[in-house]
Amino acid sequence: MQNCLFCRIIAGEIPSTVVYEDDWAVAFRDIAPAAPIHILLVPRIHVRNILEAGSHPGLMDGLAKAVAAVARAEGLDMSGFRVSINTGADAGQTVEHLHLHLLGGRALGLMG
Ligand code: AMP
Repeated sequence: MQNCLFCRIIAGEIPSTVVYEDDWAVAFRDIAPAAPIHILLVPRIHVRNILEAGSHPGLMDGLAKAVAAVARAEGLDMSGFRVSINTGADAGQTVEHLHLHLLGGRALGLMG
């Protein structure tokens, strides 16, 4: 989608630090990390949020596979990590392209 920040990152029009890509997903480092490791995993197809994800068979499986690959590559599979998906205003979703935050590298504590 033309004016979508994450579509433009996927297309290479906006620079990012890509750490993983496959047929379903692209993963890159968050520009404002909330943890020592903070990676965003985004589907290649433009899906606004998780409410729409079920309309795309295979998408969540593809993202789960990407999460596991990135977590292992970043050395988080043994120490642990958090995956969160903000949806809508109350969750603070600022980019309307489904994205998974993968956070790790320290004890994360409880989340509000
Ligand atoms: P959310 O608030 O869940 O919509 O998350 C959007 C995330 O995108 C935030 O954590 C931002 O720091 C991150 N972000 C915004 N612009 C960029 C960018 N150009 N490259 C990488 N991450 C970005």
